[in-house]
Amino acid sequence: MTMQLYLPTTDKKALYNAAEMLFLNRDRLPCSEALPLLPFGMPEILDASERLERFAPFIKRVFPETCESNGIIESPLIETPHLLSALSRNSQVRLFVKMDALLPIAGSVKSRGGIYEVLKHTEELALKHGLIKENSDYKNLCEYRELFSKYAIHVGSTGNLGLSIGIMSAAIGYKVTVHMSCDAKQWKKDLLREKGVTVMEYAADYQSAVRHGREKSAADETSHFIDDENSLDLFMGYAVAALRLKKQLETQNIPVDKAHPLFVYLPCGVGGAPGGITFGLKQVFGDDVHCFFVEPVNAPCMLTAFIKGECVPVSEIGLSGVTEADGLAVPCASKLVYSAMKQLMDGEFTVQDSRLIPRLRLLYETEELFIEPSAASAICGFEGMLSPVGQEYLQSVGAGCGSTHILWATGGRLVPENERRQLIK
Ligand SMILES: *Cc1c(COP(=O)(O)O)cnc(C)c1O
Repeated sequence: MTMQLYLPTTDKKALYNAAEMLFLNRDRLPCSEALPLLPFGMPEILDASERLERFAPFIKRVFPETCESNGIIESPLIETPHLLSALSRNSQVRLFVKMDALLPIAGSVKSRGGIYEVLKHTEELALKHGLIKENSDYKNLCEYRELFSKYAIHVGSTGNLGLSIGIMSAAIGYKVTVHMSCDAKQWKKDLLREKGVTVMEYAADYQSAVRHGREKSAADETSHFIDDENSLDLFMGYAVAALRLKKQLETQNIPVDKAHPLFVYLPCGVGGAPGGITFGLKQVFGDDVHCFFVEPVNAPCMLTAFIKGECVPVSEIGLSGVTEADGLAVPCASKLVYSAMKQLMDGEFTVQDSRLIPRLRLLYETEELFIEPSAASAICGFEGMLSPVGQEYLQSVGAGCGSTHILWATGGRLVPENERRQLIK
């Protein structure tokens, strides 16, 4: 297969020209200084993790696909030596894929944050109505559909967040409405309607879909709005991934320390998923983990925030916000996430849309793993690290052949068979 080389530049002008770049965050601080500046920390991650454990018997009962993992929603960490040799002839590093594309229920990284926020809201309502007490078995919550049907949930989405919120909320019994931006794929809307979810469609972008959702929700006092632009609950749901990854690395005897740094490549939309995961990983591994976001050249909202120093829409710097990577088609980054990432995120790569499908196919051909186009951007992050500017960074942080690299493969499982065939053919 011929694939055009990915050679990002570090020139900041590239952002404005929709050209591919590697941004290195010069404001990053050592974790010992950056983490104490944040208004939340490890206790909040542990609280979220324990809540997910309380709900595990319920999830196992309502979603039999989670039986094997006892109601814990988790994805495998898979080593990809064939992909590595296709990308690099003489690399001594180890390459893995964190297959969130296989996550149960929503088939994407949103099975972490999105589902977590719906469960947290459900726990609050259940406590308020006396359905559960401390130490209750949450399994029985599925007997109260009628009560939950008196409550509404609204969310704005480019597709995948809507799937996670819609599927979980409908399973519990809520009246759920997903406000979809123009980027959302038809099959995602169809699937939600099949599950009894109300899908509102807008001709405008994600920011506008979120605004409509927020207004509709505010007009209904029984409604909870899942605010992807500003939700600490989503953020903490994503952060739990770090505790799980730590266990997987230990089980597979993969060291993470000064001599064996870990590099993680995270596709970024509004920032919640990559931001929450980065926050968790920095809590767990400190300065031994390096987190790089990946965004489309035409919708790099997080990079725009870093370079402008505030969250502004990408249209303000002359970019279209339009991309084939529907999960990343976000014009403006989350303020909450940007401010948490300011001194934590190590850097970012931007990629052209035209690279996504060739990478998706490469992963499929070398490892028989299917991911959606948004997720395939992570592969470019690793390629960028192999490029001259990436090598320079690796040397500057003292990372040699002992390093481990993880592509965070954020979605794909629910892509219908006919779409899948078209993507990989
Ligand atoms: C949502 C999503 C992302 C990015 O998550 P944000 O929280 O929007 O930054 C990345 N990949 C896929 C497939 C997604 O659905």
